[in-house]
Amino acid sequence: MNLLKKEFFFEDVNKLKGVGIQLSKYLKKKKIEKVKDIVLNFPYSETNRSILSKLNELEIGKIQTIKVLVKKLYFPRVRNLPNRIVCEDETGSIDIVYFNSREGYLRKVYKVNEWVIISGKVNFFRNKYQISNPDYVTSLKDQEYVVKKIPKYSLTKGINEKKYRSICEQVTKNLPEIDDWLNQDFIKTNNLLDWNKAIKKLHSSSENQNNSSSYRRIVFDEICANLLTLSKNRERVKKSKINKKFSEYLTKKIIKSLDFELTKDQKKVLKEINSDLNSNKRMFRILQGDVGSGKTIVSLLTIANVIESGYQCAIMGPTEILTHQHYKLAQKIFKNLNINIAFLTGKTENKDKNIILKDLEKGKIDLVIGTHALFQKKIKFKNLGYIVIDEQHKFGVKQRSDLADKGGANCDLLLMSATPIPRTMMMSLYGDMDLSKISEKPSIRKKIITISKPEKKINEIWSFLRKNIEEKNQIFWVCPLIEESKFLDYSSAKKKYDEINKVFPNLIGLVHGGLEKEEKIKVLKRFLQKKISILVSTTVIEVGIDFPNANVIVIENANKFGLAQLHQLRGRVGRGNKQATCILLFKEGLSKNAIKRIKILKNSDDGFYIADEDLKLRGFGDLTGYQQSGIKNFRFADPIKHNDLFALAENYILNIRESINQKKFIFLLKLFDKAEIINVKKF
Ligand code: ADP
Ligand code: MG
Repeated sequence: MNLLKKEFFFEDVNKLKGVGIQLSKYLKKKKIEKVKDIVLNFPYSETNRSILSKLNELEIGKIQTIKVLVKKLYFPRVRNLPNRIVCEDETGSIDIVYFNSREGYLRKVYKVNEWVIISGKVNFFRNKYQISNPDYVTSLKDQEYVVKKIPKYSLTKGINEKKYRSICEQVTKNLPEIDDWLNQDFIKTNNLLDWNKAIKKLHSSSENQNNSSSYRRIVFDEICANLLTLSKNRERVKKSKINKKFSEYLTKKIIKSLDFELTKDQKKVLKEINSDLNSNKRMFRILQGDVGSGKTIVSLLTIANVIESGYQCAIMGPTEILTHQHYKLAQKIFKNLNINIAFLTGKTENKDKNIILKDLEKGKIDLVIGTHALFQKKIKFKNLGYIVIDEQHKFGVKQRSDLADKGGANCDLLLMSATPIPRTMMMSLYGDMDLSKISEKPSIRKKIITISKPEKKINEIWSFLRKNIEEKNQIFWVCPLIEESKFLDYSSAKKKYDEINKVFPNLIGLVHGGLEKEEKIKVLKRFLQKKISILVSTTVIEVGIDFPNANVIVIENANKFGLAQLHQLRGRVGRGNKQATCILLFKEGLSKNAIKRIKILKNSDDGFYIADEDLKLRGFGDLTGYQQSGIKNFRFADPIKHNDLFALAENYILNIRESINQKKFIFLLKLFDKAEIINVKKF
């Protein structure tokens, strides 16, 4: 294999002929920086200039190509009057009109009594066909540059189509043949296409939409690149470590002191995690479970084991409020066990912080709970052995593997998430991690009653809410976040606030997208402390915070939310042992699909099932609520349309993992910008 050849793909675009500083700036805006970015930027459509039309069969308003004889040139030399060339074929005559053109140039390309090929949009002006400023003019001998189907690329301001196309042609024409990483049999059996051919084809025509064998080939490659990255990352993280030894005496004590029985799933998951802690490979595991399924207690029980074995532990959560709840719970659970717990966030006062830092370094603190402030450079642990990360679905592959590294060679890592990921996507998003799953909810928890109501019957729910308030229950009232404008978001939430405030004066708080973090936290705390009964909010309340007293949630304009998102919102109530209710309010005139979705939500409280159904019903283009989960990281692959390819790729990677031809696959990883994530540089 010629290494130099492959390097062509990763050259800067400004090395290409015709790409100057200005153009490369614009290309960069389109994320086109290397030659391979041009290779992978496929046309979305094409302009058909391949048919030569006679002048008596022209269609007005369409781009057409004609072969005509130049008859006469007019240069009026009057401001605002265009230059005009009269041309004919045997069926008629046409005016070719130029604004802002140079006479010299026109005289060169339009020679009287010679044939030319012209392509452009046809108009009709003063009873005559005309093409003004045609896209192409050539002599007959060069006609193959024009008379063909010409690909259309989506481009941004500043990039001239013709120019881009000529650069693109320069690239695709000179593209080195790549030694395919898939073997021919595999390609054939699975209805894909040879890589070199696929790329050529995707640039030459508009067949790139979704199901051609060439497009599917690229999709397959993208999924493979992704899976390989994860598999490499797994290799990188799951290195040898000193195994943690514990008798579980602390854990057993804690379990005895709990006022509930662990669920079967919690026990199963505990075993999985403990066995990882106990093994001589680093743990790299994700614990998935619906909101309220009891993940926190599982993490604390495993933390107790790690502390028993003589290591320090850290829990990191996304927000101060959530981590503070963990802190309080940990204090309660670890009471009288001689375990030292610290709480550290960005807001911790300097003098307290300094004490904590010293104690962490000396090993006086067994467990530290906090926000990302935990992982600043200056924070040193004596012997950190276990990091638990809660509700950080924003973390990509790189971030989670960096965290694993931060802990050092003996540090285990557990991620916890309530973001339901559809099954088809699990491997592609978390294939580097081991998976533990809690599906079953604590049995003392009553199933949340879900009802739907048209908005105009809103009056019917006031009495229901009043009854709840009298019983000292709390209520969430959720309006969809208006993301494009803080002002609109505020005004719609405020309107609702005023409306409810008329019914229940002085019992209500408001949280919206425009609030400063501090103010938001203030309101949330008032709600937590039960100083208010109703919290009106746009969807900015983070997952995971425990409001044990909230057991009604009203979701307005519920069809604006994804199913999975509705399920998550619903999970914010019913965390105590009272019966909880979720009321979905709708505008009228629901689509069939919307009705189906409500039905699913009413009938199931299994987040995994709901996520799968959501994906099926909504389609990939419309996955509200998943933006942060990483699903959208794919550029070509679509988990619904290419469902089969996801499965195929998973199988394929599993089978070849051991025998991977490094060089070939590093090329693939670099093509899809994955190499950096796992630190490979050279072929
Ligand atoms: P998650 O983090 O998975 O959303 P939490 O760990 O916050 O859930 O648990 C939610 C609530 O359920 C907590 O108040 C917790 O004490 C309680 N809980 C956890 N496990 C059980 C169980 N097996 N039985 C009863 N209650 C439980
Ligand atoms: Mg939680």
